[in-house]
Amino acid sequence: MNLERYSRQILFSGIGEKGQKRLLESSITLIGCGGLGCVIANNLARGGVGRIKIVDKDMVELSDLQRQILFNEEDAKNKSPKARVAVEKLRGINSSIQLEAKVCEVEPRNIENLIEGSHLVLDATDNMKTRFLINEACVKNKIPWIYGGVFGSMGMSMTVVPEKTPCLTCVFGEFPSFPELGTIPLINAAPIIIASWQTTEALKILVGDENLNPDLIYLDLWPGSFRRIKIKRRKDCPTCIERKFGLLEPGKK
Ligand SMILES: [Zn+2]
Repeated sequence: MNLERYSRQILFSGIGEKGQKRLLESSITLIGCGGLGCVIANNLARGGVGRIKIVDKDMVELSDLQRQILFNEEDAKNKSPKARVAVEKLRGINSSIQLEAKVCEVEPRNIENLIEGSHLVLDATDNMKTRFLINEACVKNKIPWIYGGVFGSMGMSMTVVPEKTPCLTCVFGEFPSFPELGTIPLINAAPIIIASWQTTEALKILVGDENLNPDLIYLDLWPGSFRRIKIKRRKDCPTCIERKFGLLEPGKK
C-alpha cells in the first residue's frame, strides 16, 4: 500500500504509520452534509479514513454555497442530492477509500441500520432532535460519536464515548424542548472550525489515542472567545445509565 499521499500526517507523532493504517481500516458514518458535514467529509476523506458513509436527505441550494465547501453553482442549479454530490467530489480527491451516499432522512426506524458496523458517528445535523436520536442509537450500540453545532459565529462540540464519558442527555436532560430555529444566521468560519475540531477528535478516536477532549467546548469567533465546560456523567442518566431509549423504542418502558 502506497502511503505517500498521507506522508505529512504520518510524520505527525500522534498518528504515525501505525495510526494511518488504522485510519485506512476505519469506518465512519457522517450524519448531515451541510456546513459541518462538507468539512468533516473533506477532512476525513483526504486523511484516509477507509470507509465513509454520508447520510443527507437534502438537495444543494444556492444559499448553501457560502459555506458548504464540496458544492458548486452547477450542483445548486441541478438541485443535486448533497450526499451523492459529496461522494462524487470526494472520489476525485481520494479514489483509494470507500465512499457511500445515503439520500434519506435519519429516523428511529433506520438509524441503527445506518450506523451499524461504524467505529464512529459524526454529527453534522442542524437540529437537536436528530442529535438526541444519534445519542440514543450510539449509546445503545456502544459506538462513540461527536456532537457539533453552530449558530451565527458560535459553535459547540463534545465527544461522547459510551460507558466512559457523559452523553448528550447528561448535558441537556431528557428530551428538552429546543425552539425550532428555522433558517439560522451563520458565518462560514463557524462550521469550518467546529467541523475541524470534530475531525481532530475523530482521528484521535480512530487511531486509538486515549487523550480525548473531555469537555463541552464552546467558541464564539466574532468576539474571539473560547470556553471549556466541564460535564459530569449523571448518576441517574436515563440514556447512558438506565439505558432507556425513548426515541428509538418509544413503546418500551
Ligand atoms: Zn448520559
